[in-house]
Amino acid sequence: MRLKINGGISEYYAQTLCLLFFPGSKFSAKNEKHPDEPFAEITLTEDSENSIVTVYLSHLGKEATSTYAEPKSKYSSMERGANIACGKAFFEAGKSLRGISPQWGILTGIRPSKFIMDLMNLGNTRSQAVKILKEDFLVNPKKANIAADIACAEQHLIENMDKDSCSLYISIPFCPSRCHYCSFVSYSSPKLLSLIDDYLEKLCFDISETVDMINALGLKLSTIYIGGGTPTTLSEKQLNKLFSTILQKIDVTEIDEFTLEAGRPDTITPAKLAEAKNAGVTRVSINTQTFNDEVLEMIGRKHTSKDFYNAFEIARNSGIPNINTDLIAGLPGEGFQSFSYSIDKLIKLRPENITIHTLCIKNAADFSKIKSEIYKKNVRDVTKCVDYSQIAAKNAGYLPYYIYRQKNSVGNLENVGFALPGTIGKYNIYMMDEIQSIFSVGAGAVSKLVSSDKSKIQRIFEYKYPYEYLSDTEGQKRAEKRATIEKFYSEIRGT
Ligand code: SF4
Repeated sequence: MRLKINGGISEYYAQTLCLLFFPGSKFSAKNEKHPDEPFAEITLTEDSENSIVTVYLSHLGKEATSTYAEPKSKYSSMERGANIACGKAFFEAGKSLRGISPQWGILTGIRPSKFIMDLMNLGNTRSQAVKILKEDFLVNPKKANIAADIACAEQHLIENMDKDSCSLYISIPFCPSRCHYCSFVSYSSPKLLSLIDDYLEKLCFDISETVDMINALGLKLSTIYIGGGTPTTLSEKQLNKLFSTILQKIDVTEIDEFTLEAGRPDTITPAKLAEAKNAGVTRVSINTQTFNDEVLEMIGRKHTSKDFYNAFEIARNSGIPNINTDLIAGLPGEGFQSFSYSIDKLIKLRPENITIHTLCIKNAADFSKIKSEIYKKNVRDVTKCVDYSQIAAKNAGYLPYYIYRQKNSVGNLENVGFALPGTIGKYNIYMMDEIQSIFSVGAGAVSKLVSSDKSKIQRIFEYKYPYEYLSDTEGQKRAEKRATIEKFYSEIRGT
């Protein structure tokens, strides 16, 4: 796609608007109109009272133009008014040219529930905040309302959170094989899987050190999350080693939530989940993404829906009280009929938590080569799938409790977590809303340090790949991390 900007609109923001109407586009360095490519020209002018933006779009011989003016007095900054005018003009031109109305309007770059919470913290009521989303950001009323429902659920949890609490994230970046839509850095070949024992040795040392540091800082662990990859790629013996380290260092009876993101049904056995239950795990993810076996094969999942049913039963029989299951809307080969079948089947199983993702293919995924083909599928069909999931979950007694959007997902649609009453996955909210420190260990993990008044946030990145993590035999990164954490807490506490 070619994009030309005249005036002070940021290129990043303009590209985000382009992707709403031309999903999967890559941007050419040349910014002149070309007959074979979508073209957008954005022109910002100002008079004494207004920011005025004209958007011209062309594609396959069709053209559309729209102009919008926003009063400067309405916004706290010129940039904000100009961006709103640009978004609205783009929305009208895009709708006219492509015949689609993005469900989230021009709301980009911020989590919808956080935006609602911020508006409410500024003194707006819930209905005023919903009105701003609908009128200023052209958000579909259904989406504005689900964002408000989630903001209220999150607010309740945040208000009841201990201000000295924190969480521990443990990264297991290994999978039994690679799914075609996945961009996550995860080792899956036999040679790389043979690194697990060494990785675990180092990881257990890091867990012990990190818990000692948390205690020394006077913080209280509220949740533990073992994520991946697929943590149940570990053998029963390896899981036993991991859990033993955790139990030696942490009184898990004092923890609010302890999640094992098992994930792939083809790695789950009764013995592994018995280890988890004995270690105090309270929440486990058993994911299938779809109940359609042909689609499972197409996306490279290496398990069938029958394997999922078996794994779900193992999880139920293990006594772990909270099961989460993920589905994805927009998978290749899956239309509304197949997706709604998956939702209906899943709801019948009554997992405590259900997470519905919208397909988002990033550059590192195998599917990135055929991304534009996949994304060409009917956005209206995917929108219908996401709408159906929200209605079906609500009718079955599930409440939406967290939401996030990824740039460049199909239809720019959202990912939503649902929970039966009293079962929300707390870690997800703590991590997403950046309201408590998350101490993370292992390759690819990112720690987030958050001051108790939330005014200061600092991220610490671990080595991305397990081989880098293992090659730091001197513990250089560990020492740097410790120093960063101590400095952060010393500064915010004025000690
Ligand atoms: S199991 Fe999950 S993390 Fe592993 S390759 Fe598949 S999608 Fe990626």
